Amino acid sequence: MGGAVSLDFVNTLDDRFANEPKELLKSYIDLARFGEDTGILTDAQVDRLFPWSIEYKEEAEHVLKSAIELREAISEVFYAIVRGKPVPASPLATLNAHMQEAAKHLKLVPGKGRFEWKFNSGIDDPYAPIWPIARDAAELLASDRLEFVRACASKTCEWLFLDESKNHRRRWCDMTKCGNRAKAKRFYVRQKKEGN
Ligand SMILES: [Zn+2]
Repeated sequence: MGGAVSLDFVNTLDDRFANEPKELLKSYIDLARFGEDTGILTDAQVDRLFPWSIEYKEEAEHVLKSAIELREAISEVFYAIVRGKPVPASPLATLNAHMQEAAKHLKLVPGKGRFEWKFNSGIDDPYAPIWPIARDAAELLASDRLEFVRACASKTCEWLFLDESKNHRRRWCDMTKCGNRAKAKRFYVRQKKEGN
């Protein structure tokens, strides 16, 4: 939805800047489901990882912790960028560590007319949902698309998204979710001012 899987991942802590943020990754299953919804994991992987996470609860909890550590590092880096602030060294180091780990599992495979990067994850590797997220964040940071990363203009949302609109003036993560609400509010204020 946000145009980049790493940005979608940051948004799994919903209402991030509210007093009570909503954690959408409550268990490893939520992480695997995120991987399924975003196409990071194949159906076969998800079918194996679901029962694995129930049988090996402690290990699954450990992977989830690692995923959340990565998410918070990505979040700090990108929110600093969209707010025009210096990127702090510590989350960047965390992201780099995750990215280097991810790179260990990357391989080149022949594709159509050129080669492609593919993650060499076995069907049972519980870290498989994490590597592509780290790589996506790193690629976005090193690309021309970086200047189009935005935080939603709705103060109650602030989700990150990639503005791929033609004139790059998109303000809301989702027009139906946040854009219409903002417009309705402006309309209401105007009506009130005009004494209706
Ligand atoms: Zn929004």
